[in-house]
Amino acid sequence: PTPVLAVVGRPNVGKSTLVNRIIGRREAVVEDRPGVTRDRVSYDAHWNGRAFTVVDTGGWDPDARGLAERIAGQAEVAVSLADAVLFVVDATVGITDADEAVVRILRASGKPVVLAANKVDDQRTEAEAYGLWNLGLGEPWPVSALHGRGSGDMLDAILAAL
Ligand code: GDP
Ligand code: MG
Repeated sequence: PTPVLAVVGRPNVGKSTLVNRIIGRREAVVEDRPGVTRDRVSYDAHWNGRAFTVVDTGGWDPDARGLAERIAGQAEVAVSLADAVLFVVDATVGITDADEAVVRILRASGKPVVLAANKVDDQRTEAEAYGLWNLGLGEPWPVSALHGRGSGDMLDAILAAL
C-alpha cells in the first residue's frame, strides 16, 4: 500500500487548494465559505517518482458550536489513519484556538508533521510564516497553494516525512 498523508487544519486555510496543488489536478472542492469539503477524501499523488495517497479533510457544519473540538476530532481520525500529516495554517491570520486544538492532537499522535504556512503569495508575507516556529512543530514551509509558490520544497519535506 502507498503511504498516506492526511491534510488537516481549520476551515478556509486552503487545505483543498493545497491538495489540488499536490495532486496536480482540480479534484478537491475549494470553497470561499468554510465547511464544504466532504469527510476524508483520498487522492493519488506523485512527487519525484514516489507515489502516496493524500487525504483531504473538512465537512463540518461551520455554524456548529464547539468548532475547535469538531476540527480536532476530525483531525484525530484522519491522523490515526495516516503515516504523516500535513498541518495547514493560514500565515496571513496566524494561530487561532482551533489551530492550537489540532496541534495538541498532532503532538499526542507522535506522527511526523509537515507544517505548511499557506497563503504566502509573495515575499512580503514570508515573514509571517517564521512566527510559526513557535508552534514547536519544526520548520514552517511557506507556500501559496493558489500560485504554487514554495510547493516544491514543501513536497520534498513531505516525502522525507512519509
Ligand atoms: P479549506 O477549507 O481549508 O479546504 O480551504 P479551501 O482550499 O477551500 O480555500 C479557502 C479559500 O482560501 C478559497 O477562497 C481559496 O481560493 C483561498 N486560498 C487557498 N489557498 C490560498 C493561497 O495560497 N493564497 C490565497 N491568497 N488564497 C488561498
Ligand atoms: Mg476543503
